[in-house]
Amino acid sequence: MNRNPLNWLRLAQPHQTCRHCHAFTISGGLCAPCQNALQDTRLRCFRCALPLNDPAGICGECIANPPAFEQTVCADSYRPPVSHWLQNFKDSRDLRDGHLLSQRLIQRVKSLYCTDDLPHYLIPVPLHWRRALWRNFNQSSWIARQLSKELHIPALQCLHRTRPGGDQRHLSRQDRLRNLRGVFKLADDPAMRQQLQQRHVAVIDDVITTTATARAISSELRRQGAARVDIWSLARTDKTHLSD
Ligand SMILES: [Zn+2]
Ligand SMILES: [Zn+2]
Repeated sequence: MNRNPLNWLRLAQPHQTCRHCHAFTISGGLCAPCQNALQDTRLRCFRCALPLNDPAGICGECIANPPAFEQTVCADSYRPPVSHWLQNFKDSRDLRDGHLLSQRLIQRVKSLYCTDDLPHYLIPVPLHWRRALWRNFNQSSWIARQLSKELHIPALQCLHRTRPGGDQRHLSRQDRLRNLRGVFKLADDPAMRQQLQQRHVAVIDDVITTTATARAISSELRRQGAARVDIWSLARTDKTHLSD
């Protein structure tokens, strides 16, 4: 007879195991030791979240070419196991991994912002309508909904892409920036534009690499009247070699 109460709990909740080490957990997601071990404690640029070797605060690129966004918050570095979970969420639509990663971003946001400083709106990075039709899933919108529920900040689907991005992996950073110029547009809706005036907003993305997307979107939102744009992302690459 099974007298260990933990085993009964395991039988009652068979899926509550740590995503990383598969140890039993009460809450699911990650166990406490894995939470601690996978905590991202690296020094990062305040503006673009690129890892820095010294606590200077802002990287050379952000000083030379200041972006229109103010601050980037990312929960994790884009490296295993986080990169595997992210691909699983994005490509296989495993929403358990989506929840796990969104929770890590929510915790990071809560640790960095006072309640008064939180943005007024969350704005997901849009897909081109053709890609949205084909995929039937926009991971940024899904993440924005999770954040919206937990942080009580409304999500605004106010942007659209005027043309598909195509494969940007072979492009240099400058070419990516050029390629995205004028791609993101605010919806042609006077009420939406009015809503944005002098507001603080956070753009929601899954991965940040070159910051080309973040730069293009934040320029458009500032041009349309937003007072401050922050970028919130599940993960950030250490270099600028992947597609964003
Ligand atoms: Zn674990
Ligand atoms: Zn930077």
